[in-house]
Amino acid sequence: MIQALTETTMQCGTPPPTMQLPSDQVRLPPYKLASRMSRPESTVVHVGHVAVGGPEFVVIAGPCSVESKDQLLATAEQVKRAGAGILRGGAFKPRSSPYSFQGLEEEGLKLLKLARETTGLPVVTEVMDSSDVPLVEAYADILQVGSRNSQNFSLLKRVGKSTKPVLLKRGLMTTVEEFLLSAEYILASGNDQVIMCERGIRTFETATRNTLDLSAVPILKEKTHLPIIVDPSHAVGEARYVAPMARAALAAGADGIMVEVHVNPEKALCDGDQSLTPEVFGRMVDDLRPMARLFRKRI
Ligand code: PEP
Ligand code: MN
Repeated sequence: MIQALTETTMQCGTPPPTMQLPSDQVRLPPYKLASRMSRPESTVVHVGHVAVGGPEFVVIAGPCSVESKDQLLATAEQVKRAGAGILRGGAFKPRSSPYSFQGLEEEGLKLLKLARETTGLPVVTEVMDSSDVPLVEAYADILQVGSRNSQNFSLLKRVGKSTKPVLLKRGLMTTVEEFLLSAEYILASGNDQVIMCERGIRTFETATRNTLDLSAVPILKEKTHLPIIVDPSHAVGEARYVAPMARAALAAGADGIMVEVHVNPEKALCDGDQSLTPEVFGRMVDDLRPMARLFRKRI
């Protein structure tokens, strides 16, 4: 521990390399509560019967957005059969264009509740605005803070007051340290149930929608006790690249993945190009199972 802390201090230029730091001068990083120095044991976030951050490699799956009862229930049943432990689906959608489908809002939340009742899967859904937190937390098991809101500090403080766990996505342009500081806002407001999600960052590369920063996974595992999952769907933007990056996420040490699945991707109202069919999703999870055992995880 002291050695690690001394290294942190050395990066700042002081003290000289030969000097040993007395333990009372140990300095925590700016993300104090999220830091593994303040809590060496890993945090496990419990959602229903699912534990994120333990020996389970958690698979979260579902459509980008909730579109209809039939679409959601059919997807939910099929992802459950394939091995998903948590259902995802957006009711409030952050779209680049104001003319794109914005989500079913409360109607979508009701459908998510229905899907939980019929499948038993806990649900995660995005909350975009502080004023919507009471509504979304009345229906959701996990509150998602999306990439675009990753540094919306008033929203982070508000979900920090919630009793529901938070799935925090990395901002499109945030560094690992800024990502940790976003998590710190939630912890500092009183909610220690935070799952971090690497979903790709914006780089000069245009071959994929974003660039999946897989190295963030072992770095975050070292720097924080919070669980870290990977969303390969929003990182790559195309269905055929999702499975390889899901396997890579498992190999890199992630605690799980979040993947978009749609019963009919061609007709999806949002992110159809990156959505897997339930069949392809099922094959991907089957391929992940033996790999998970190799890494002492289970699906
Ligand atoms: C999503 O998961 O539905 C989403 C909008 O992702 P992101 O915030 O990572 O773009
Ligand atoms: Mn999406």
